[in-house]
Amino acid sequence: MRHINNTTSTSSSAVVTRSSVSDFAESFLKFNGRPEGTAIPFVMEEDRSQAEYPGNASRGITRSAMLNSYASESRKPVKFNLHLIEACNYSCRHCFAKFGSRKMLSFDNWRTIVDNCLRAVPGCSFNIAGGEPLLAAYFHDLARYCHDRGSKVSVITNGYLITDKWIRENAGILDTLGLSLDSFDEGTLVKMGRCTRSGKILTAGRIKEITTLVKEVNPDCRIKVNTVVCSLNRDEIVREQIMDIPVSRWKIFKMMSFANDSFNNSDIVISDEEYMRYISNNLGTSSEMLKDENSHIFSLSDTCSVVVEKNLDGGYLMIDANGNLVDNTINTNYVPVVNCVTGDVRDGINRLGLDTELYWSRY
Ligand code: SF4
Repeated sequence: MRHINNTTSTSSSAVVTRSSVSDFAESFLKFNGRPEGTAIPFVMEEDRSQAEYPGNASRGITRSAMLNSYASESRKPVKFNLHLIEACNYSCRHCFAKFGSRKMLSFDNWRTIVDNCLRAVPGCSFNIAGGEPLLAAYFHDLARYCHDRGSKVSVITNGYLITDKWIRENAGILDTLGLSLDSFDEGTLVKMGRCTRSGKILTAGRIKEITTLVKEVNPDCRIKVNTVVCSLNRDEIVREQIMDIPVSRWKIFKMMSFANDSFNNSDIVISDEEYMRYISNNLGTSSEMLKDENSHIFSLSDTCSVVVEKNLDGGYLMIDANGNLVDNTINTNYVPVVNCVTGDVRDGINRLGLDTELYWSRY
């Protein structure tokens, strides 16, 4: 990853109680129309447990040892992404949270997963994701559990269900609040499915209110924005709107092509050239510099960096809504390598097709 300096330059608050959120999640899981999950065999035929980090082959270092060692040298904690729930109040065309899970794990299961991750990678941090993680009734309890075990906790959410009350209850224990914001244009958001079933969106005014209050409650909580670029928003320039909120990191991803038995987003995939044009339009950089590299970090201002990533495969430790550590480098779907409730997380990491270099370049 290259690091590049480029320093230049109405409220729609949804009033949602914890129980109504929980009811929504339950009914979604029952009636959302997504198909039953197809059972995918665990990857046992090719034992990757002795797989070595490519750059250290001669030293015989396994991936888990490499992660532990790098974390301790760099003091950057290894981050596990806990995808608590597949259900969401939005239905984005580019969503890759397709785990085939119709039942949520219990809070006890997730506590066990957190304990097992901490045993495998002491000092690791947790990013709570989904689906929409605020639909999980035990979101706060799980975030609190991770925090009380000494781990940094972040969340990635579409933000629609965030209330002022939620912020007052949760901002104090969050290291980072991540918001998925792909566009500020209502028409684009509706086309993308980045809206509720009745077409309601999170407005720019509400985004400002949320981020301002989070900073008031916890000035140390970082605000991160994730933007996914697909054919529906590729021509937009949102830099000014992003700079209008107190963002410390803006991640701009090229949409991943994803397909399983029931879902296929190939019609809104963009080319590398189109993605690079979006970056150039929004950051004022030469697209040439992005041609041969997967990722870059730009400095957009003194307080905001931008991470540009063409490909996430193998750069993400993901535990799906079934509790499985999953590999996304094998095909266009997720392949479970270990169940983190009952299995050995360290052994699972060693069997993952994790690109350790890409992983570290992202954090
Ligand atoms: S908000 Fe996130 S989890 Fe929900 S549908 Fe969109 S991409 Fe998927």
